[in-house]
Amino acid sequence: MKIESLLIHGGIDGDASTGAVNVPIYQTSTFKKGKFDADNAYEYSRSGNPTRAAVEKLIAELEEGYAGFAFGSGMAATTAVLSLFKTGDKILISNNIYGGTFRVLDKYFINFGIHYSVFNSSNIEELKSNIDDSVKAIFIETPTNPLMGITDIEEVAKIAKKNNLITIVDNTFMTPYLQKPITLGADIVIHSATKYLAGHSDLIAGLVVVNNSKLAERIHFIQNSTGGVLSPFDSFLLIRGIKTLALRMDRHNSNAKIIAEFLKDKSEVEKVYYPGFEDHQGYKIQSKQAKGYGGIISFILKEGYDYKSFLGNLELVTFGESLGGVESLICHPATMTHAAIPSEMRQKIGITDNLIRLSVGIENAYDIMEDLTKALEL
Ligand SMILES: *Cc1c(COP(=O)(O)O)cnc(C)c1O
Repeated sequence: MKIESLLIHGGIDGDASTGAVNVPIYQTSTFKKGKFDADNAYEYSRSGNPTRAAVEKLIAELEEGYAGFAFGSGMAATTAVLSLFKTGDKILISNNIYGGTFRVLDKYFINFGIHYSVFNSSNIEELKSNIDDSVKAIFIETPTNPLMGITDIEEVAKIAKKNNLITIVDNTFMTPYLQKPITLGADIVIHSATKYLAGHSDLIAGLVVVNNSKLAERIHFIQNSTGGVLSPFDSFLLIRGIKTLALRMDRHNSNAKIIAEFLKDKSEVEKVYYPGFEDHQGYKIQSKQAKGYGGIISFILKEGYDYKSFLGNLELVTFGESLGGVESLICHPATMTHAAIPSEMRQKIGITDNLIRLSVGIENAYDIMEDLTKALEL
């Protein structure tokens, strides 16, 4: 099946016992055992629930992995993956990774002796020089958040394999419709399904996909032991969202291209970060490893321009956290998504105060441009 069809019919398609076209919401904590020695598929909903199982099977098929796991948030998914490691282990992370991923390593896993070290993921040589005996995994996001740097997944995975490291890719920005890291050699894919996969800014969810049975067994053990599972209702909503992913991503892609070109020509804008520009550092790699350039654009407003009043003056474009919803969302990374990163490091990697991140929605592109123009000129 092609991905457009798999999005709708993959995983568990409907309900065999009633013919319902949707997987029911199995709102139950426990399951009747029946016979004393019965070996039933479900026992208790932390360990497994049929609605959650449907979304887990679906994401595994979409990412072409071995097994999928659904969590109560993207951070719960990331935390479960990082729980694979132990005291003394070190994870290499790319330099502008999601702020929450940085925070959980910097302030939480550090308490258990799990360390991290930051590298510029657009520079493969820098990656190689950071590998030592304590390094056990490489954790990347591509495009990076919020500066849209591109990392060659295949190259990273090759280096990781040679050094016996696990490659972890946060695929939130691209989704399996545009990019499938496991087919490029990654071992684990993480999603904040809160974003494009759910797509309607109406739930918080996380997904993990692994490429082999051994990792599947370990992640299932962690999921069941630590318990950060996705509820049956949110699993249902997530399946519902995923069905329209192809249509939504196509529109996010085309709208973002229009808006990126539009912003580039604005006199108030200093620089636009968009991997769909041919002169973008990662354009070639992005074109090779993904089917599109996604819906996220970051841009720098000219020195001295009042970014606070720009953000406050927007009407259609929603000023708030998050991304990947049907509505255009705009945020100020330095004080919002990336506030957990120390100011000095933020400056160093380019997350300055006049940097704006725009998640281009699927509204009419002219309405988005009109709103941006009005707010820029006010
Ligand atoms: C939002 C986000 C997360 C965290 O996901 P939550 O669902 O908010 O916990 C992780 N990675 C990326 C790239 C994100 O955008």
